Amino acid sequence: MNPDLRNLYQEVIVDHGRRPRNFGVLADASHQAEGVNPLCGDHLTLALQVVDGRIAAARFSGAGCAISTASASLLTEAIQGQTVAEAEALFRRFHALLTGPEEIVPEGLGKLAVLAGVREFPSRIKCATLAWHTLQAALHGDRQAASTEPAA
Ligand code: ZN
Repeated sequence: MNPDLRNLYQEVIVDHGRRPRNFGVLADASHQAEGVNPLCGDHLTLALQVVDGRIAAARFSGAGCAISTASASLLTEAIQGQTVAEAEALFRRFHALLTGPEEIVPEGLGKLAVLAGVREFPSRIKCATLAWHTLQAALHGDRQAASTEPAA
């Protein structure tokens, strides 16, 4: 990755980590789930308001490291206004960005691409994907908290 781009990406992550967008509770949430990443101590709750198959609003709360907070902030920005199917497709592209072969950079990620650098730090990948696993849990109505670690 070229250094200018890396710096820009870093700035966006720091900005979203310090001033997360869509942080708070959603009074009339239709979907909600908790997510935990025990390896880092990240813990968040994601709430959605889905109307006619479209994500009208998304909020998150909780506490975590800068990467998990920035990722959750970017996620809520990205999925608001999307259909559930579009959000699921975005999840797959985002997952491919972090865990797929490096030569394949998925298109259509928008700002989420700033998290590409995380792939160089395998221990932080779970911080970056936590909000997305929590999104899956919320959309599929899982009652158990989503965890980046398999249940013991
Ligand atoms: Zn973390």
